[in-house]
Amino acid sequence: MKKIKIYGARQNNLKNLTLEIPKNKITVFTGVSGSGKSSLVFETIGAEAQRQINETQNSFVRNRLMRFGVADVDKIEHLNVPVIINQKRLGGNARSTVGTATDIYASLRLLFSRVGKPFVGYSNVFSFNHPQGMCPTCNGLGYVSSIDTQTLFDKSKSLNEGAIRFPTFQPDGYRWFRYVNSGYFDNDKKLKDYTEREWDLLLHSEEHKPKNPSKDWGKTMQYLGVLPRIQRDFLKKNSKEEKLRKKELCKIISTKVCPDCTGKRLNNNILSCKIKDKDIADCTSLSIDDLLSFIQTIPSTTYETVLNELTKKLTNLVTIGLQYLTLDRVTTTLSGGESQRIKMVRHLGNSLEDLLYIFDEPSIGLHPKDLDNISQIIEQIKAKGNTVLIVEHDPDLIKLADHVVDLGPLSGVNGGEIVYQGNFEDLKTSKGKTGQYFSLSRQINQNPREISETIKITNADLYNLKNVSVEIPTNVLTVVTGVAGSGKSTLISKVLPKQFPQAKIIDQSQIRGSSKSNLLTYLGVSDKIRRLFAKENNVSIKLFSSNSEGGCENCKGLGIEKIDLAFMDDIEAPCEVCGGSGFKPQVLKYTYQNKNIVEVLDLTTLEARSFFDQNDFAPDFDLLIDLGLDYLKLGQRLNGFSGGERQRLKLTKEIADEDNLIVLDEPSTGLHPFDTKKLMTILNKLVNQNNTIIVIEHNLDIISQADWIIDVGEGAGKYGGKVIFEGKVEKLLNHKKSATAEYLRQYLG
Ligand code: ADP
Ligand code: ADP
Ligand code: ZN
Ligand code: ZN
Repeated sequence: MKKIKIYGARQNNLKNLTLEIPKNKITVFTGVSGSGKSSLVFETIGAEAQRQINETQNSFVRNRLMRFGVADVDKIEHLNVPVIINQKRLGGNARSTVGTATDIYASLRLLFSRVGKPFVGYSNVFSFNHPQGMCPTCNGLGYVSSIDTQTLFDKSKSLNEGAIRFPTFQPDGYRWFRYVNSGYFDNDKKLKDYTEREWDLLLHSEEHKPKNPSKDWGKTMQYLGVLPRIQRDFLKKNSKEEKLRKKELCKIISTKVCPDCTGKRLNNNILSCKIKDKDIADCTSLSIDDLLSFIQTIPSTTYETVLNELTKKLTNLVTIGLQYLTLDRVTTTLSGGESQRIKMVRHLGNSLEDLLYIFDEPSIGLHPKDLDNISQIIEQIKAKGNTVLIVEHDPDLIKLADHVVDLGPLSGVNGGEIVYQGNFEDLKTSKGKTGQYFSLSRQINQNPREISETIKITNADLYNLKNVSVEIPTNVLTVVTGVAGSGKSTLISKVLPKQFPQAKIIDQSQIRGSSKSNLLTYLGVSDKIRRLFAKENNVSIKLFSSNSEGGCENCKGLGIEKIDLAFMDDIEAPCEVCGGSGFKPQVLKYTYQNKNIVEVLDLTTLEARSFFDQNDFAPDFDLLIDLGLDYLKLGQRLNGFSGGERQRLKLTKEIADEDNLIVLDEPSTGLHPFDTKKLMTILNKLVNQNNTIIVIEHNLDIISQADWIIDVGEGAGKYGGKVIFEGKVEKLLNHKKSATAEYLRQYLG
């Protein structure tokens, strides 16, 4: 049997690993966070496979890639062509939908062009991106934008007082001068006192030369009403100012459904073509399972191939648990987990074999029930003759492995070794943390906190929610459960903050701040450390900032350079001048306790805790260590953190406070069960400090330890959107219909 052979892997913390991975099998990589799973699977195996493909690229791309760091590994043999399925959101714009991303829309167009009545043209005219297909009013977007004059104008003010609330239209702004110098207005008159004519001139006037402007009016200058002016300068395609003023524009622009196509994106000619009374847009607005039923009612005598193709593709989406989505859903609104599953389904359709599939935590966003489906899909991919590698923490997916590679024993410098490799059965008795986890006995929270006060969400009806009213107890740990798409995030992350604006949503999104922010700046101890260096060496504090005097001139202190690959994603490479440190070489001769600034930034939080033991800020590192982030380096840039790491980092900011309403969406992401346990300790500590914690979770280790459960269901999309259970875990166990209850019973064994 052929194997992928890896010799001498040393990327990041890997300790010169040599290993073999069986082909045409499923191998799962386990280990605590920071043990080296990503370093091995993505940065070594994935990167090398990608690089070998790139050798076959044209020389333009190849030359640029040469500069890009190659994985630190001696040799890898018998690699296959890689398909990397990660959680990066599906890119695209308002024109990319579930239908276009899965190619199902193309099959549907073909069907309409053959079966639809009357015949309106070839399949391409059914595309809302095609000039003959799109609605002329909204250009195929389905919505139109208009300027909200209520927000734009403050009618209680005059032009001189800044009645036009938009940059450059404010007093002394260059656009403002046009209006006050036009000679049309009394610049001290409040807008609410304007005559109809004045109001019309201000807002809507077409371009012309005013008759009596002030003497500052230039010879060639034209007058144009505020609304067409904004339209022309900011809202035209490719407007530079649009990007610049995005935030301000958002405030004054309101979008509404296109009045002509009512959001269907297509013109009336195309929409007149129907199959069984439905136009193509009616079909894309059906949930995928309903669309499948509809397709199955079409007699399959004549257009069998298209119908079979559609049936197959739609069934795949159902199998993967996305039956609740509609084909017209814009891909940018999908969650990370949904995006990942769409990517999976795209590959199910192909008939390529002998590929190397690499999955990054496919369990994300999935209820144990959904996981059964994902397991099936992964088995199918293997059955087609492919090799599958999975980085995963979820016990149910680990069980899928033909082969397990457990990394550890701990993280960072204390990890990077293979603790166990072999089959799943023997993993359970192996010595590492993963093995230990499988031998633990499981039980539910024995002492749930008693409920006294509650907050109430009333009549929530966003998206699929069915007029939901629910009480959430305060000062306890509530876990919100339910299958993917049942409405948990809609209820908790979208509706709750509307009714309780004080709610703090701690999600996995990027942390705001410059691309130069690193862990230290986030913690707010950068300056303190710089001061130590400055004092010790009797030089300026600015030298120790890569943003300031100390920064490398080539990369502006960033440590990296972006390499533009034309039609591929940009890639980043370490700066050639400073080697990635971001500092000028002369700064490195100054030391504090025998380490220069770059060496200090290379310390992990655990190492920093003892290195700075004597300083008042040393305890700031404790919380990170408690949250399992002991392996992070002080200089690690925030935009390189994983979603789970970002979320836990944000949590550290809340811990000092009391009486907060804190919401966490799937905090177990990226966590080994041992790290999950640490997280639970912190969450309980927060509750004990009088905070209210609401967690959206699928992880049974967390669900079983809740004080209170709110289960949303029963199914996804239109089959969900109701609260089907509220109460303590013990009571949930007896619930007949809840999928969460069923899987919790299995979990407890
Ligand atoms: P896992 O995937 O098991 O969570 P990683 O492979 O991401 O672990 O990390 C292993 C170790 O390598 C950690 O100590 C981590 O901080 C470190 N590391 C990861 N990426 C980098 C990097 N780009 N530069 C330096 N160290 C890194
Ligand atoms: P969960 O968090 O339980 O996985 P969600 O709250 O994300 O579920 O989704 C509930 C329902 O609302 C699903 O049918 C989903 O497709 C729909 N939905 C979620 N976000 C949007 C959106 N931005 N636009 C339209 N529908 C949405
Ligand atoms: Zn339209
Ligand atoms: Zn540099």
